[in-house]
Amino acid sequence: MTAESIAVGLLGVGKIARDQHVPALSRNPRYVLAATASHDHGVNRIDKIPSYPSLAAMLEAVPNLGAVALCVPPAPRYALARAALLAGKHVLLEKPPGASTSEVHHLIELARERSLCLFAAWHSQFAPAPAVAKAWLAGRKIRSARIIWKEDVNFWHPGQEWIWEPGGFGVFDPGINALSIASVILPGDLSVASATLIFPENRQTPIAARLSLRLDDVVVEAEFDWRQTGPQTWDITVETDAGQLHLSKGGGALTLAGKAAILPPEAEYDGVYERFATLIDQRRIGVDARPLHLVADAHLIAAREIAKAFY
Ligand code: NAP
Repeated sequence: MTAESIAVGLLGVGKIARDQHVPALSRNPRYVLAATASHDHGVNRIDKIPSYPSLAAMLEAVPNLGAVALCVPPAPRYALARAALLAGKHVLLEKPPGASTSEVHHLIELARERSLCLFAAWHSQFAPAPAVAKAWLAGRKIRSARIIWKEDVNFWHPGQEWIWEPGGFGVFDPGINALSIASVILPGDLSVASATLIFPENRQTPIAARLSLRLDDVVVEAEFDWRQTGPQTWDITVETDAGQLHLSKGGGALTLAGKAAILPPEAEYDGVYERFATLIDQRRIGVDARPLHLVADAHLIAAREIAKAFY
């Protein structure tokens, strides 16, 4: 028996939808991209795919959609995910899964009540290195760890205003990817011991952050900065009783005790959509809320610093 194909409606035809979701859907025979929706649906559309001005219009016009992939920014995501679940659709949430922890918990409950799949797609967890790093760290004694995630916001987010608005996450938009990797590779649960968030004087979200995380009695220092020019840094380093683990390139490269690890090819979004199909078949929830809790906790206990205005 062949598995049923899944008709997907994609909401928010922006950078990540075009760069990753549409190509990954077209490579996976389980899926058919059946429709897209975007406010500016005449322009933000995919060639030959029916396009609608809203989720409601898409759901009405294409009743046989099996799933909805939400590629909008986090702030408007809750209302859309709720509407899609109430319409009986399986839902994929781009990262981060919501703008607050409580809304994500409500969505989990709603999906559970309706036996629908809700999947929080932490794409960085599907990068080549995390699974290998997790296996290497299992059973080893960890002495310390350090996360350095520094990139140039002007290069990666040109013209995106939502990242600076409430619920836009600021530097945690990329930084939460590091936390999503750390949460899966480090054995044990991370919590936030202290945090400093640095806000440009004219913006609502941080441009940089320093966190001290606890992993039992081990300290994990984390630095996030959007003001990095020159080489970009997406590194996690872990010191263990068997030598150092160094994950770099956002999970694209790994050295273990000084030797380069052999990694599978990069296929983050192929992994995301394979996992989504499995969860849909099993009508299961796949929401790892740990990275979002860490960012929320950092905001709860942080000291605040003000930096010069960002334009
Ligand atoms: P983007 O390029 O700004 O696209 C967002 C899309 O959502 C736009 O097409 C916009 O189109 C729609 N939208 C609906 N409501 C919106 C609102 N209130 N504000 C702004 N746009 C709204 O953003 P993106 O880079 O694709 O990021 C979207 C999500 O994917 C974010 O959560 C981000 O963290 C995640 N992500 C991004 C990347 C990346 O490399 N860019 C990588 C991984 C994950 P309409 O206004 O026409 O509806």
